[in-house]
Amino acid sequence: MIARKSGWMNEELQIFSGSVRKFFEREALPHNERWNAEGKIDRDFWNKAGEAGLLCVTIPEEYGGMGGDFRHEAVIVQQEQWTHFSGWGNGVHSGICAPYILAYGTEEQKRRWLPKLATGEMVAAIAMTEPGTGSDLQAVRTTAKRDGASLVINGQKTFITNGQHADLIIVVCKTGDVSGGAKNISLVVVEANEVTGYRRGRNLEKVGLHAQDTSELFFDDVRVPADNVLGGDEGRGFYQLMQQLPRERLIIALGSVARIIPLIGAAAQGREQYPTPHNQT
Ligand SMILES: Cc1cc2nc3c(=O)[nH]c(=O)nc-3n(C[C@H](O)[C@H](O)[C@H](O)COP(=O)(O)OP(=O)(O)OC[C@H]3O[C@@H](n4cnc5c(N)ncnc54)[C@H](O)[C@@H]3O)c2cc1C
Repeated sequence: MIARKSGWMNEELQIFSGSVRKFFEREALPHNERWNAEGKIDRDFWNKAGEAGLLCVTIPEEYGGMGGDFRHEAVIVQQEQWTHFSGWGNGVHSGICAPYILAYGTEEQKRRWLPKLATGEMVAAIAMTEPGTGSDLQAVRTTAKRDGASLVINGQKTFITNGQHADLIIVVCKTGDVSGGAKNISLVVVEANEVTGYRRGRNLEKVGLHAQDTSELFFDDVRVPADNVLGGDEGRGFYQLMQQLPRERLIIALGSVARIIPLIGAAAQGREQYPTPHNQT
């Protein structure tokens, strides 16, 4: 196989890539088959990844992160694919949820949640999709209604990555009239272990990503402090989603391309099995 070097790679990233690979080979691959069969990875893998510095790599060090940039995230995504470890929802945890909190959270929210996400003490999920609402996010029906200093959440979500493990869930809710559109949407953070009325549903069967716990979630009168609205102001959620969703799409595209490169090489050489590209950067 011809080794190719990406323009964005440098020596530091190369070394990081090697250590990520070794971490997956040591801590994930021996369990991969079992995790695929069980439909989720072991919870303590998140803590091990936190200890190894693989969580929240783009989050500044003052909030517990590694202080890296999107290239560090990309290296992890690539190595997940190249080692054939595809059940970890870190793209959602570190690549999506933590950046939402960093970008829009109040100082208090950032200090409260980001360090726990960086160590793996908390696993994060983002709950947008509902049984009747996918692409058209303005149509979500989950509500978060004011009751004094609280918000009371009612609704159902589905296809939520990290759904079985998540302790911190960014929930897309209507804080205004449910039939209203974008301006009524807020992102409300639910700390799953601190509330009543929150329930994890089925861990859904999928055609791939078998070890990724993509789940149904239920919210029945879940009461959270009104301060848990991301950024503090209601009605900003749709704009926050529109600004961050391209990053999510980029991570998914990166993973897809990383997966495909060895397949193209193998097909070109008439091989059925494809090697993992140790030196393909
Ligand atoms: C493995 C996996 C993990 C996921 N993780 C999460 C998660 O962590 N959090 C979360 O909230 N959701 C998650 N999802 C859900 C995902 O975001 C939705 O599947 C996606 O938003 C599409 O919604 P839908 O499946 O309801 O399809 P629909 O919105 O019903 O779309 C069906 C088809 O119609 C097309 N379409 C829709 N609207 C239009 C239009 N206006 N014009 C033209 N074409 C259109 C779509 O492109 C698609 O091809 C996950 C899904 C999967 C499979």
